[in-house]
Amino acid sequence: VIDAIADVLRSPHNASSIHASGRAAKSLLEQSRRTIAAHLGCFPAELIFTSCGTEANNMALKGVAAGSIAVTATEHSSVLQCVPAAYKIPVDANGVLKMDALEQWLQHTTAPALVSVMLANNETGVIQPIAEIATLVHRYGGWLHCDAVQAYGKIPVDIGLLRADMISISAHKIGGGQGAGALFIANHLPCAPLLHGGGQEQNRRAGTENLAAIVGFAYATDLTLGMMGQWQANLRRWLNTLEDIACATFPDDNIVFGKDAPRLPNTSLLRIPTLPSETQLIHCDLNHIAASAGSACSSGRITHSHVVEAMLGTGQGGDVLRISGGWHTTQEDIAAVSALWQKLAQKHKHLNQ
Ligand code: PLP
Repeated sequence: VIDAIADVLRSPHNASSIHASGRAAKSLLEQSRRTIAAHLGCFPAELIFTSCGTEANNMALKGVAAGSIAVTATEHSSVLQCVPAAYKIPVDANGVLKMDALEQWLQHTTAPALVSVMLANNETGVIQPIAEIATLVHRYGGWLHCDAVQAYGKIPVDIGLLRADMISISAHKIGGGQGAGALFIANHLPCAPLLHGGGQEQNRRAGTENLAAIVGFAYATDLTLGMMGQWQANLRRWLNTLEDIACATFPDDNIVFGKDAPRLPNTSLLRIPTLPSETQLIHCDLNHIAASAGSACSSGRITHSHVVEAMLGTGQGGDVLRISGGWHTTQEDIAAVSALWQKLAQKHKHLNQ
C-alpha cells in the first residue's frame, strides 16, 4: 500500500487535466473505482470518493431530500452529530436495533423516510441485520443508509445482499492510509452534493480527488478482502477465550457487551467493575498494549459511552475497555492482555487483604 501511494506521490497529477499525465491519473482513479465497486458489488458510477467515512456519512444524510430521518441510538458521532434532531431508534441490551420501534416510527412519520443504521458498531462490534432492516424501510417507501466503515474488510459488505441504498466506507480502517473514503449511492437515489465547485465525481463531490489515498484505498481493498476469512476466525476465537478469562478472573458482575449478538471478529468491549478502565488503560500502555476506553474517535478523552448507555440505560456508560485487533494481531498479543489482567487481579486482591 505504501509503495502504491508513494508511486502516485512521486508523479502527482490531477485527474481532471486533459494532458497525457492527467489522463494517466484519471485512468488510475477509474481503475481504483472499478476495484472497490467490484468488491462491493455495485456499478463504478455509483461510487463517489470522499475524504473519509465522516464525509460519506454527512453526504448521505444531508444530500437526500427526506421527509424525516431516523438513526440508531448507537451510531457513530459522524451520524449522530450530523442529524441531531433525527429520531433515535432504540436498541436491545445486546445492542441490536429494535425492529418494532423502527416500524412504529415508519408508520407515523413524514414520507419519504431516510433511515441510517450502521453495519457494525465501532465500540462493541455488534452487527445489525441490515437486509431485514432494508426490507422494512423499503416496504414503507423509505431509503436506507448504512455506515459500513467499521465492517468493511472484516466481514463481507455485499450491496446485493445488504440492499441498502447508500453505504459509507473508509480507507484507513483497512490499512489504506488516511484521506480517502467512499459513498455508494444507488442509481435510483437523488443525492445532492455536500461540496460545490468543480465537476469532479460526476458533479457529485467537488474538489480535486486525493489520488494517492484513493489508489492506496483500492490496493488495500484488494489485499484485505483477499485475506478475508484467513485471520478473522482465529481472532474471534482468541477474543472469546479472552472474554472467558476476564469472566473467570473477575467473577463478580463483569460484562461482555453484545455477547449474545453477532459481532465483528476483531472487537470485544468489556466492563470489569473492580478494575476502573483508567487503571487498565494505564497498565495496558505501560505494557505496550494499545487498548481504548470505548471509541477512539473521541481520543484523548475518556467519556461515557453513548453506545453502552443505549444498551443498558443512562449512567451505565462508564468504565469500559475495548480490545480490538486485525490481520496483524497474534495469539501472543491477546495472551498479553489476559496476563495483565491476572497480574492486576493479584494486586487488587493483595490491596484488599
Ligand atoms: N463510522 C464509524 C462506524 C467509525 O468507526 C468511524 C471512525 O472510526 C467513522 C464512521 C468515521 O470514519 P473516518 O474516520 O474515516 O471519518
